[in-house]
Amino acid sequence: MEYTHKNLIHIKTSFTKDLEKLGYKELKEKYLGKKGLVTEALKEITSIPSKEKPIYGKEVNTLKTFVEDNISEKIQENREYASKPKIDPTAPFDINEDSQIYSEMLSLEGSKHALTKEAERLLSIFSSMGFDILESRQIDDDYNMFQSLNFPKGHPARDMYDTFRTEDGLVLPAHTSTMQNRALKKFGPPPIAVVLPGRCFRNEATDAGHEHTFHQIEGVYVDKNVSLSNMIATIKTYLERYLETNLKVKIQPAYFPFTEPDCEFVIGCPFCNMSGCSTCGHSGWIEIMGCGMIHPNVLKEADIDPELYSGFAWGFGVDRLAMIKLGIDDIRYLRESNLNFLRQF
Ligand SMILES: [Zn+2]
Repeated sequence: MEYTHKNLIHIKTSFTKDLEKLGYKELKEKYLGKKGLVTEALKEITSIPSKEKPIYGKEVNTLKTFVEDNISEKIQENREYASKPKIDPTAPFDINEDSQIYSEMLSLEGSKHALTKEAERLLSIFSSMGFDILESRQIDDDYNMFQSLNFPKGHPARDMYDTFRTEDGLVLPAHTSTMQNRALKKFGPPPIAVVLPGRCFRNEATDAGHEHTFHQIEGVYVDKNVSLSNMIATIKTYLERYLETNLKVKIQPAYFPFTEPDCEFVIGCPFCNMSGCSTCGHSGWIEIMGCGMIHPNVLKEADIDPELYSGFAWGFGVDRLAMIKLGIDDIRYLRESNLNFLRQF
């Protein structure tokens, strides 16, 4: 009797310790399972002398009730914990506060940003046209931003780009052309067909048409006998596919150090049928991107022989093109997290 009494005390002590460490399933298994400690102790009763049976029976049943009660309590705690909302430190409101905005927010499903959706649409058009995709970097160096693109040190055209610089001389890309030299080397020798999507930054005042941060998709195509008319046809094709309409197009002169000749690609305004509206500034035409034949120096810098190969490149603003397609009149909306705006797309 002395031994069995001590055994019950031992089981209780070990259960109290386990209660902190184990989950309710493991506790149930260890103490109340088929070979559980309490189950075994209950079986002991058959080997106890009959006059001691009532005392032992009472003790072992008290222990059993104690174990069962504690396990039920643990299950209950677990349910309460599971039903409590989890803390989300990124939530734009106090998640512990049971307010109306909180329940409204929880009932909403997130979705992709309009710009992400439009960029994906554009990239899938380029993929179907046979272009590889290589994303640009968000921090780069002077060589890729300028030198490899035929802007030697001190070149006045560097000033056109309002470039942000870090204290240790790195630059935030002001255009996705920073990837041209890398792409030509990576995908060369020609034929090369690649688009380079990425985020760009310019240190300029913001207004309805300008943002310090925006997105571009650069295109690079190099092969034997590539001409300006190949460029015009390629750009016209993807713009028509993206804007889902036939376009009148023209090119006009521009200036970039990394192309020769340099062009501005202009489309007939698809909204007013070129009769003039607010989107085209009442001119009937929209200047949509810079483009041109890749400068021989840029090809040489990427170990491509300009005597043998020629190519074209373009760079357009995804934000700008998406604004035209979606009818958004202020670029700044795209970087604000205004749900009333974002839910429209
Ligand atoms: Zn128009």
